Amino acid sequence: MTDMAFEQAHVWHPYTERALPQRLHKIVAAEGIWLTCDDGRRMIDAMSSWWAVAFGHAPAPLVQALKDQAEILPHVMFAGLTHQPVIDLTRHLVAAMPAGLDQIFYSDSGSVSVEVAVKMATQSQVNRGNPHRTDFATARGGYHGDTWKAMSLSDPETGMHTQFGRALQAQHFVSRPPIPYDAPWSEDPARNGLAEVETLFRTHGDRIAAFIIEPIVQGAGGMHFHHPGYLRGLRALCDHFGIHLIFDEIATGFSRTGADFAMETAGVTPDILCLGKALTGGLMTLAATITTKELAANVGALMHGPTFMANPLACAVASAAMDLWKGRDWSARARAIETQLAIELAPARAITGVRDLRTLGAIGVIEMDAPLPVERVHQVCVESGVWLRPLGRLLYAMPPLSIEPDELSKVTHAMLTITKGL
Ligand SMILES: *Cc1c(COP(=O)(O)O)cnc(C)c1O
Repeated sequence: MTDMAFEQAHVWHPYTERALPQRLHKIVAAEGIWLTCDDGRRMIDAMSSWWAVAFGHAPAPLVQALKDQAEILPHVMFAGLTHQPVIDLTRHLVAAMPAGLDQIFYSDSGSVSVEVAVKMATQSQVNRGNPHRTDFATARGGYHGDTWKAMSLSDPETGMHTQFGRALQAQHFVSRPPIPYDAPWSEDPARNGLAEVETLFRTHGDRIAAFIIEPIVQGAGGMHFHHPGYLRGLRALCDHFGIHLIFDEIATGFSRTGADFAMETAGVTPDILCLGKALTGGLMTLAATITTKELAANVGALMHGPTFMANPLACAVASAAMDLWKGRDWSARARAIETQLAIELAPARAITGVRDLRTLGAIGVIEMDAPLPVERVHQVCVESGVWLRPLGRLLYAMPPLSIEPDELSKVTHAMLTITKGL
């Protein structure tokens, strides 16, 4: 059996049926924005490998940090023990966070960091005398991960509610924030979506522990960009009703939207924040759940402890990634990418079958009327040397922030070619 036949016979890929093995590219190396296939062809990774490889693949200082750490202390349990890489990384994160957010719990992946956030919120409410506050609220159109609670908080239509039926806990959903990022804000609660939140809080608030949302960019749930005014209103309502506010910045953190963190656009600080993906520059899996001293005091002993919590290799790489992130104005890079995406993708508006075009920071989204045909996308990707992976009706680019203008033009060209040919 060839390697690829063996692979196809045994290895399960994300969101796929075993009976329908998908066409796969075997990647043998990655450097900068480039992926190298086993037949020697190269493709631009316009997905930043699921949005994590923010500064390009295999930056030398990150690879070096990994090698150095591997020789000294690759892993040690985190209960009762600590190490230098976690201290260094924590210094970076505390400095990067808004004042007040400085209590950090490390875990292995974004989904787990959301589970931890949900546990923090629940334990905090229970311990401050609200034992019945164990429900969660969120907006439609979100995505918070694939573990049970995170999945239940993701959009009930684009998410996985239908596949799991009653096994998924019911959550309180309000409409997707109705006012787009670049539209004028309306103070009218009936129009800006906040009336619905207030009604929910009035009727069920005494059972709600927290409201969770991805600030500004709702990613895998549909790639919608909402107005910062919504987050300000949400903050005020959460304060009024004693509900914790959780921001999931796993996808938006570290300059993706053109701000260091998306929440800065709104000038709002949550009670709990989740980080992941670009935290390690996409080299290792690591996530963080960050809260305030006050909330942490209410939590008491947080009942979570992953085996590989604060793994020294991941922390050392993340620390080097934070040096890299601080060393250059990546947010300005993201804004320059936004300008170029907006100009070069503009012709998509005139193409039949295109419903909407949205750009924000280093994110460009072409929304179609119908799901994109996998075969067509595959063919254009191979021909143009650009790796794109649509999400249902969405053809989008989220390239590494290190991409150069001429390389980005290749990406936008491939996206237009795909949409034109349908
Ligand atoms: C990717 C993502 C997650 C889940 O992270 P994993 O590392 O895949 O578990 C959660 N929330 C958001 C906003 C994400 O983009």
